[in-house]
Amino acid sequence: MTMHVSLNDGRKEPIGRIFCVGKNYVEHIKEIDAVLPDGLLVFMKSPLCLVEAGQAILLPRDQGAVHHELELVLAIGTAGHHISPERAEDHVAAITLGIDLTLRDLQMELRRKAWPWEPCKSFEHSAPLGVFAPYRRGWLDEGIAMTLHVNGTQRQQASTREMMQGPWAIISTLSATWQLRPGDLIFTGSPAGVGPLEPGDQVTIAAPGIGQFSWPCT
Ligand code: ZN
Repeated sequence: MTMHVSLNDGRKEPIGRIFCVGKNYVEHIKEIDAVLPDGLLVFMKSPLCLVEAGQAILLPRDQGAVHHELELVLAIGTAGHHISPERAEDHVAAITLGIDLTLRDLQMELRRKAWPWEPCKSFEHSAPLGVFAPYRRGWLDEGIAMTLHVNGTQRQQASTREMMQGPWAIISTLSATWQLRPGDLIFTGSPAGVGPLEPGDQVTIAAPGIGQFSWPCT
């Protein structure tokens, strides 16, 4: 399945790369017993991991805990390389929420071995993604209040203003290494409250002005 992002000018772009930022909210770093990063921690997921809202999430089996991570997701609309933080906002076409599903036990094992993260972060169905809302200037500077509920119980709640590396710094730093292209996505990191999902759970994420998106887990 190829998912698209609608840009401000009505064009539709197929989703390109998925960049993800780790350890970007202080309280989440404490709860997973990690150290503060001295720089931007970046990893990638395959776009083939995306799951549209309303589709069932097929959870991995027999690999330990599968944690939800609620995240703001940016869609790039204008290409750029070496973008300054001051110009970063010009490159955002749309925003939504997504879930960075993480095989937490496997992640801890990979961390101990100092092995790459793909098996714990970029597995099948690891990137449930909401529907994009066209970006309006100033929105991210105001901050977005986002929540995640499992079976009606709130598990995560935060303002995107609590990010340690804000969206403009993230875009600027990524663009020093990669030429960002229309259709590229950026998952911006999870606040505290991460926890396990089980088959039969219903997970729902929401933010004012963006929408509410749900997935059944199987
Ligand atoms: Zn994450």
